[in-house]
Amino acid sequence: MELVNLKDASDTASFSEAVKRGLGKNQGLYFPETLPKFDDIDAVLAMPFVERSKLILGTLIGDELPKAVLDGVVERAFAFGAPLAQVTDNVYCLELFHGPTLAFKDFGGRFMAQCLSEIAKGEKITILTATSGDTGAAVAHAFHGIDNINVVILYPKGKISALQEKLFTTLGGNIHTVAIEDDFDACQAMVKQSFDDPDVREGLHLNSANSINISRLLAQVCYYFEAVAQLPAEKRADAVISVPSGNFGNLTAGVIAKIMGLPVGHFVAATNLNDTVPRYLKTGEWAPNATVATLSNAMDVSQPNNWPRIEAMVEKGLIDKSLITGDCVDEEYTQVAMKQLAQLGYVSEPHAAIAYKALARYKSEEQAGIFLGTAHPAKFRETVENVLGQPISLPEELAAVAGKESLSAELPADYQALKAHLFALLQGK
Ligand SMILES: *Cc1c(COP(=O)(O)O)cnc(C)c1O
Repeated sequence: MELVNLKDASDTASFSEAVKRGLGKNQGLYFPETLPKFDDIDAVLAMPFVERSKLILGTLIGDELPKAVLDGVVERAFAFGAPLAQVTDNVYCLELFHGPTLAFKDFGGRFMAQCLSEIAKGEKITILTATSGDTGAAVAHAFHGIDNINVVILYPKGKISALQEKLFTTLGGNIHTVAIEDDFDACQAMVKQSFDDPDVREGLHLNSANSINISRLLAQVCYYFEAVAQLPAEKRADAVISVPSGNFGNLTAGVIAKIMGLPVGHFVAATNLNDTVPRYLKTGEWAPNATVATLSNAMDVSQPNNWPRIEAMVEKGLIDKSLITGDCVDEEYTQVAMKQLAQLGYVSEPHAAIAYKALARYKSEEQAGIFLGTAHPAKFRETVENVLGQPISLPEELAAVAGKESLSAELPADYQALKAHLFALLQGK
């Protein structure tokens, strides 16, 4: 697999190099030079999930990793399924929350951790990442206990749910967490600044593990195939897929799946009030506003860092921009959608509810539609209980951490303070 930096075409990388570097020069994103396409899609869809995922990832990555190594990585990473739950006649939810941290980011996080521990055998690496909620937990669990890899996770203090925080700040060992006194965009900016600082990048062998790492995106391609594979054959031709979006990694993976031959009729890019992309798709103008806090806090992102990859696929002529419709669902309609789903017998949380609402607004009665269920409702228990007025029980994973103490450090949104903290924590380790 050959990847090219979208900001500097002279900066190319193999899959292994791109996984290790995370970002390229000038904070450019790596993107595959070419994308393969399956000829016999029905045969691919007929395969079981893990076997099909080995084929998809092997086809994308090529022979850079020996087949037996990649197969092992896929088996260890995809140790749980992605069932398609039927909500009404023509509406389905792809449940991506059956992994250890109950969110879709487990797929990308675990695949990346397994790839990196194979690729970097023996080298010391520091994973530095910012999270608006779920990436942190997924990354922390995926890397916890892996030799030679230290993980540092920045998150906005007080802006993620208490339970969500407990999922990744209580692990200890090689997992270090820092609460920053500002919002997610400020955390993301501090991560970017660290990557731009050669002292830190080289001194600590930095690697990013958020949705900009190419391995995470490739892993996510697999569950789009799994979604369509579970639809009845007569509904597969032009299904609409609605993706609750923040940094737009998830949607990027869906578009890659489509380019590889997966039948998808249309994508809906569903956002909360942080609607930079829906406005851009309507007006052609990229005009991010200040980030606002919403019920769907994992999507509180006004400068989505994966969008250039979607733009690149449009520019290369691989898709037409009209394949994607943007829709912004406000706070009131997020709650309306949660109630509507509950009335249909399906308890959901704010992120998936936004995707459901945007799907319902877009598609016709006859068209099959899938919205992505990106987190387990119990992860947003307070909100769900407040909106629906009914209690939700905690799954084991959450119940186990609820009583533990957070091990996080706290810092202001100041780059020098972060730099000093990183060196104190990690130098010589
Ligand atoms: C991260 C996240 C999203 C947004 O996904 P992106 O790939 O950043 O667009 C949506 N829902 C939940 C629950 C998330 O954790």
